[in-house]
Amino acid sequence: MRWTKIFLFLFTILFISGCVTKKIVYNVYYVKPFDWYPEDKRDSTIKFFSPYFQGMKIFLDPGHGGTDRKNKGPAGLAVEADINLKVALYLRDYLTKAGANVMMSRDKDTFITLDDRSRLANEWGADIFISIHHNAPGRPGDIYTNYTSTYYHAFPTDYEYDHSSHDIAKYVQRDLSYAMGNSGGLGSFDGTYSDYLIYPKAGFSVLRKTNSPRILVECAFHTSAYEEQRLIIDEFNQIQAWGIFRGLGRYLRQGIVKLSIPSDTISISKNKSIEIFIDDQNKGIDTTFYLAQIDTQNVNAKFVINKTQKKLVIPLDQTFKPNNCELKVVVRNVNGNHSFPFRRKIVVIK
Ligand SMILES: [Zn+2]
Repeated sequence: MRWTKIFLFLFTILFISGCVTKKIVYNVYYVKPFDWYPEDKRDSTIKFFSPYFQGMKIFLDPGHGGTDRKNKGPAGLAVEADINLKVALYLRDYLTKAGANVMMSRDKDTFITLDDRSRLANEWGADIFISIHHNAPGRPGDIYTNYTSTYYHAFPTDYEYDHSSHDIAKYVQRDLSYAMGNSGGLGSFDGTYSDYLIYPKAGFSVLRKTNSPRILVECAFHTSAYEEQRLIIDEFNQIQAWGIFRGLGRYLRQGIVKLSIPSDTISISKNKSIEIFIDDQNKGIDTTFYLAQIDTQNVNAKFVINKTQKKLVIPLDQTFKPNNCELKVVVRNVNGNHSFPFRRKIVVIK
């Protein structure tokens, strides 16, 4: 009798502890994109987008790495630094096959300072900068929150805001969240967010200090117990990279717009206006919109578009004092893509 009681007691203890420590097993699920699988589909999709990637300098910045590798999933299987790198390396493969030039802030598990990430991209003269991360919630211990989000710098009403970065964020966010089967979260209408929501008036260092159009993707939450199980699947990392690649391809297909100025020194006595030349890759310019600012103040301008030239002309009869000033100009094409960042110090002389 005594032995039976001891046995029952031990059995109960083992049963209870077994229940408590039993891990939840997730049956993870993801879809292989129809234009990515099988492999011949992948090749034909890359070929389809390759005309838009030719010669583009795309800088990939996998977040964290080296000594900075404390961000992990709840089971300790998905290390953010490693997943960021895996996604970035697969993305590099797709971009390179499509004809883009790719540079990375790191292509192995090393520590790179935030300043160096931007500096390397600026020195290289990157056309587009993409920082790749995975997210964690504000509430520690939350193993359920999970969505895909893409960040741009500042708010649309701020001087430091760049319209083209927001354009890219929208395209990448849509295709990345679709490929992963995640929503974009409820904090924004389309899953793109200003980095000022995280760090007011400062934003993320890599977005603040990089000159080119730049975005930061938070592919998903590595802290989600479910998502962690997907993030450690190699094929899923490839699909993540594919989502970013296709979003970029769709963005570039709508045409990029680049602005230039013949000289940084403008003589009032010789010129009655400042002329900004527009290269719209012959997509067409949306003449219902422009933004022209001198030292952060809006100034009037007008389009001159004919067979031989496309330009935005800023008359010098406005608030010009002969001085050094900063000029910021934004125009956009008929597909809604805004010009790449154009901010120049100019000297207006008498
Ligand atoms: Zn991160």
